[in-house]
Amino acid sequence: MKIRIWGARGSIPTPMTTTELRERLRETLERSQGINLSDPAAMNRFIERLPPYLNTVVSGNTTCVELRVNDSLFILDMGSGIRLLGKELMQTEFGSGTGIAHIFMSHTHWDHIEGFPFFAPAYTPGNVLRIHSPFPDMDWRLRQVMRHPFFPVELDYPQATRIYNLLTPGEIHEIEGVTVEIRELHHPGSSFAYRFTFNDKVFVYATDGEYQKMEHEYTALYESFFKDADVLIFDAQYDFTEAITNKADWGHSTPKIGAELAWRAGVKRLVLTHHDPDSPAQHLWNKVDDADHHLQYRASRTGNGHTPPVEVLLAYEGLTIEI
Ligand SMILES: [Zn+2]
Ligand SMILES: [Zn+2]
Repeated sequence: MKIRIWGARGSIPTPMTTTELRERLRETLERSQGINLSDPAAMNRFIERLPPYLNTVVSGNTTCVELRVNDSLFILDMGSGIRLLGKELMQTEFGSGTGIAHIFMSHTHWDHIEGFPFFAPAYTPGNVLRIHSPFPDMDWRLRQVMRHPFFPVELDYPQATRIYNLLTPGEIHEIEGVTVEIRELHHPGSSFAYRFTFNDKVFVYATDGEYQKMEHEYTALYESFFKDADVLIFDAQYDFTEAITNKADWGHSTPKIGAELAWRAGVKRLVLTHHDPDSPAQHLWNKVDDADHHLQYRASRTGNGHTPPVEVLLAYEGLTIEI
């Protein structure tokens, strides 16, 4: 399985501001003292070695993840990140109307569906979009995204074939040889996590979920769903203080809760995503430290030394993971 992040922002697309760009330029120039700026190789090395909050754009686009399993294309959510994925797909069989994409929807809040009207393969006749979700009214939901007076064309204008497949929690679904299971998360209006299993490899996508209690009786349901995942993409929109003060009941989680659940479930790699639009770039990278600190604390308490047993990554546009 190959996973690629196309959008990792929550709530609303968040482009970099001029102020942020200039702050990065200022700090980068300060750090460039002594670098031979006339040597392109030295410059490239310098750029590569900058801290990630200076040389990486975490995400301007809202949630979209590409999953490749053999020759099959799975797309998880249709946030604004799907536009760039669509452009790349148009260079393949989708450009000639012979592409097939399986699209899996966690839910239909704007940040997970707003990219659909800008997904170029949907406008090419012959392409097939198989849209999987637990929502029986998925076609109606898409129609609300594309209708006058909010969008220039309506849903019947894109000419790719849309086929809807209803998924049921608790059932095991086989799609292109991949085992697919879903589980409802605590989120306003419901969101659903996905568990994909192929050749003993497990990938879990669990965005837009709040965990209001951490007692095992409450979290067991989720721990079993995340169990032994090679990769868990997890909603860590807020830091701990935000979550317990003014963002309770907003339906999102934190890096520390992600680390704790990953630890309990034996997850190998935890990917923190759904970044808050108000989080500055440097703050986002601190999320990895927050999760790592919690894992070190856990490891020290159980006598396994100080090496975190779970690898923590920050989701950013372009991040690719192969399992
Ligand atoms: Zn969301
Ligand atoms: Zn949501």
